[in-house]
Formats: sequence, structure tokens, C-alpha cells
Amino acid sequence: MKVSVIICAAGRGERAGFEKNKLLVPMPENNGVCVLEKTVQNFLREDVFEVIVATSVSDRDDIEALLRQYPVCKVVLGGETRTKSVQSALSHASGEIVLIHDGARPYVSQKIISDCIESVKKHGSGVCALATTDTVVIANQGKIEQVPERDKVFTVQTPQGFLREEIIKAYEKISEERYTDDSAVYAKFIRPPQIFLGDIRNKKMTFSEDFQPTMPARVGVGIDTHAFGKPQDFIVLAGVKIPSHSGLVAHSDGDVLIHAVMDALLSAVGLPDIGHYFPDTDEKWKNADSMKMLQSVMQEIKKQGFTPCNISVAVQAEKPKLAKFMPAMTQSLANALSLPLSAVGITAGTAEGLGFVGEGKGITVTANVLLKEI
Ligand code: MG
Repeated sequence: MKVSVIICAAGRGERAGFEKNKLLVPMPENNGVCVLEKTVQNFLREDVFEVIVATSVSDRDDIEALLRQYPVCKVVLGGETRTKSVQSALSHASGEIVLIHDGARPYVSQKIISDCIESVKKHGSGVCALATTDTVVIANQGKIEQVPERDKVFTVQTPQGFLREEIIKAYEKISEERYTDDSAVYAKFIRPPQIFLGDIRNKKMTFSEDFQPTMPARVGVGIDTHAFGKPQDFIVLAGVKIPSHSGLVAHSDGDVLIHAVMDALLSAVGLPDIGHYFPDTDEKWKNADSMKMLQSVMQEIKKQGFTPCNISVAVQAEKPKLAKFMPAMTQSLANALSLPLSAVGITAGTAEGLGFVGEGKGITVTANVLLKEI
């Protein structure tokens, strides 16, 4: 059976508050491809032989130019309402099966499309629907009147598939009523349509927030190295004093681990490195406590709206031996970043005698951090 797809793109998308049709707004997370093109791309399948896009007069030229590269696409004029647009597009469809889909649902999966076609073949119709996890009520003037049984309540998405002859017949019967979707028209004039389970990711791009690029997590890396050579019998790592044959040469207290951590945090949110905030030409930072510097870096990160999820730190040092001090270092770093111990990892290794680390000339620390939005 031949499958036609109708994509409704004639609305103005006023709720998204853009100057032009929201469907023509580029999606940053999709290499700038707009919502409508992404939606159409999902239907470029072997089992779909035509994709009919219903557009408004004002968007017609833009949409035709956009879809010219896809020979299966046919752009047709829609109408004032969704109902009229579907009616118009149906008159151009020639497949025995017609799938009707919102242009504003670019995340429809291949499985949903396949399930929709299968449902029409088996039951004569297939309406994409989601079971609800919330209790749904029917209220009138702020008062709950009915509480339907939750396992009988679904929210309806698209695609919605039908046999072409039946859905055309249903649309021919409507007069002035407005319908928000095709399943309602079919249910009123043909028979109760069959639903199949959709996917929460198949959301409709409705409000401007839906078009914001989502970057809930940020990763950062920081590396620092300090050389031995300060006449001192300890070093400081993660704020913990560790006995050593020599101290680390530094303007501050030489806490090379905390320096790497600070750079990782700053890098994750695109801020300049610690050299910018704590220049070693500034007397203020002479012998400074790096843990205090970390506190002010954490404030910068919070100002940017982020907080650490976890941190992973690798120390490369031939000496001193660190194993005994690891629990104290981990606890100290966890406290400084307000993280549970399970989200703080510090490992230490030698360089097997190779390079400056192997020759015991200095210590290098690499830190990786993951941040999330507060
Ligand atoms: Mg440093």
C-alpha cells in the first residue's frame, strides 16, 4: 500500500513569539537545520512515496525554496485553520494510506512512523498517543468536575495515519466546527480510531523555550605542573600538607592539584584561566592559600549558573608517595566543591622513570570536571 505523508506547516506559530514562522527557525542543536526541514527529513523513507507540505501564502516561497532539494516533497497551499489545511492537502494525496503530521514535531522517530503505518494496515487507523503519568482532571471554572481513570487517559500526538478514502470522507462531513487534530474528525464521522504508543521525545515545538539550545552539562579540563626546588620539607596537594624531600616552586603555596582543578572549572564555563584571576606578578598572591583561591573560583562558576557534578583528578609524581594521604586529599577536595566523596576521584601514578616527572623533577596534575546547571 502506498503511503502519502501530509505535514501541516501553515500555522503562524505565534506562541513561540518569533517574527517569522517558527518552523523556519534554525535549530542550533541540529547544525542550524530548521524545524520543518528536520521534520521532513524523518519521512524520507523507502515506504513513503510523497510528502505533501501545507503552507501559508506568506511562507510559500521560503518553504518551496527550502524543500526543492527533496523531490518527494510537494508544497501546497493550506487554509486559515488546521482543518482547512489538512482538507486542502488531502486533495493532493494519492496514497492508499495517509499519515498526517505536525510540522512542529521534528523529533518523530523512525519507530513511530513504522508503528503508525503498521497500525493503519492492521486496524485502518493509527494515532500516536502517550499514556499519562500525571492524574488528569476535568475542571470547570476552577472546580474539578471529573477525574477520569488514569489508565484510560492519553495525550495525543502526531503522526496520525488513516486510510485515505476514510479520512477524506470524514473531512467532507465537517461544516464549521474546528478540530485540533485528525483523530477527532475521524472519531466523529467514521469510527473510534486505534491508538499506538508514542514517545515523549516526539514533542511539539511550541514556545520560544523549546528553541533554546540545551546545554545542561559542561565538561572542563585543567593541567598544571610545578617543579621541585623550594627549600621546604613538605608540599601541599588539595590543601593537605604532605612530607616531601623538597617543596614545589611557586608564587602561591604551589598546590598544583588545586591549580589544575581551578583551570578545569573555569574552562568548563568558558572563563579565562587562573593566570588571569591570580597573576603571579601580584604580591597579593604570594604564598597564597590555593584553597582560598578555589573558593573564589567556585563563586565565579556559581555566578555563571553552574555547579560541579563530579571531578576526576590524576596526579603524576615519582615522589613523594601519596597513598596514605589520598583519603584526606579526597575529603578536602569534596568539601571545597560541596560534592559527596563518591563524586570525587583522585588517582596517582608515576612516570616509570621517564621525562621530568620520572626523573623526580616535578609534579603534573590533570583535572576533569563535569558541571551542571544550577
Ligand atoms: Mg600552578
